[in-house]
Amino acid sequence: VRHSNVRAAHRVISSQAQWRASISPRRSLHQATVGDDVLARNGGQTTRLAVKDNIAATGFTTTCASNILTGNTIPFDATIVRQLRERGAVVMGKAGMDEFGMGTHSTTSAFETVHNVLGLEKYSAGGSSGGSAVAVRKGEAELALGTDTGGSVRMPAAYTCTVGFKPSYGMLSRWGVVPYANSLDTVGLIARTVEPIGRAIVDQGLYLEPDNNDPTSLPSQARRRCTAERRGYRSWNPVKEGAIQGLTFGIPIEYNIEELDSRIRRGWLTAAEKIQQLGGRVVPVSLPSTKNALSAYYVIAPAEAASNLSKYDGIRYGQRDSKHASDSYNGILYAKTRESGFGSEVKRRIVLGSYTLSSEAMDNYFIQAQKVRRLVKKDFDRVFKLSNPLQDQQAFDLSEMEETVQLENKLGPAQVDFLLCPTAPTTPPLLEDVMKQTPLDSYMNDVFTVPASLAGLPAISIPMDIPVDPTNEEEKLLSFGGLQVIGQYWDDARLLSVADSLS
Ligand code: GLN
Repeated sequence: VRHSNVRAAHRVISSQAQWRASISPRRSLHQATVGDDVLARNGGQTTRLAVKDNIAATGFTTTCASNILTGNTIPFDATIVRQLRERGAVVMGKAGMDEFGMGTHSTTSAFETVHNVLGLEKYSAGGSSGGSAVAVRKGEAELALGTDTGGSVRMPAAYTCTVGFKPSYGMLSRWGVVPYANSLDTVGLIARTVEPIGRAIVDQGLYLEPDNNDPTSLPSQARRRCTAERRGYRSWNPVKEGAIQGLTFGIPIEYNIEELDSRIRRGWLTAAEKIQQLGGRVVPVSLPSTKNALSAYYVIAPAEAASNLSKYDGIRYGQRDSKHASDSYNGILYAKTRESGFGSEVKRRIVLGSYTLSSEAMDNYFIQAQKVRRLVKKDFDRVFKLSNPLQDQQAFDLSEMEETVQLENKLGPAQVDFLLCPTAPTTPPLLEDVMKQTPLDSYMNDVFTVPASLAGLPAISIPMDIPVDPTNEEEKLLSFGGLQVIGQYWDDARLLSVADSLS
């Protein structure tokens, strides 16, 4: 055991030194070429695209930053990659990430720790789609694909001063995306500004394209119904002035936690003032189940992960542990393969998930977490002006009494258009400090991103301006954070407009 750990550690350390780039040099060696048909279709316009390494793109390996998938190739494009290639995207390379998307700082990769940019190399770039965000920030790509299960697109955007968009669950196909936690996984987009994201999602019609290969992709009819309910809000880029006029933004009081960095609190207030100047209203709202959302997420996500990762046994999938390849008893091969193939964070999630799904713990953990998830969703549905088009109307009516009680307890007017809160409780932390954190400390960082994931709602992180003390060098260096705007289900187009006006 010890030997293989030492070897693995050595591999990680030596590869860290070598692989600082967000797009790993090894994988970007594949020269991307653009076909004439693509150029013709797009009037000669192409978009340089970075693809997170858990999304299949032909011509590149897909390793999920895990030893167990070293050298793995998938012989087709993920639907989202195909869709973007058809729209003129050229895949520049695969971007570094946390192993299987499990992490918050892109430090759990078996190959590389992603470093931040802008003279902030010592700081976390966020995770798990850290490489995608850094590729965009460095100009290696104009658009990047990430995945967001509990904040993995929004967090890196917040830490690299970029824009990270997590669409409504079921909007973008997950086919060809290696699953982490299926009920939460979404494909997300990262860019320097909202513009390329709005163009791809709305103007180029991604929001209307279902995918039969992904059973959780919203079918055509439901897309049309949801879209019809949001008529009038379809254009993502209206005249900039006036986009905020008349809208109400809710400030969830539960998000004003003690641990919130004072700079982030300042930036949040500044954003609220900007909204008022632009003719919007800002009101406090209460999302009481928020305090349980993080615990529910860290039960549900590992449970689904444990189940998803069980296929990597060295026989059906995954790099076999070569020393044990010929072992006649498969149990040893499984165990050795998984022992050397997975990193410690992934193993922690597998153990956690297997436990919460076991018969003795199921009722107390997994079932409870599902109930909390429902409450989180109901909290959101209660505060938004628009109703949730996926809401089961009957269930809603049955719980009317409970609704009334809750409404009376809620602060401020019942209905808002969007919610406004930070993406992360702090500015980017030092990587050195991240390495010393306990797993629980690092999970805490996701406190503002997981509620929207549990509810399947669209959310975007845009750069937050933080007023700084010009004599304080550290403040000057970290004068940005992530400002998160959350919308009702399928209100993505309007969310993008609003984010564009606020950024
Ligand atoms: N940090 C969260 C986790 O580790 C979110 C990751 C994600 O969205 N992929 O699960």
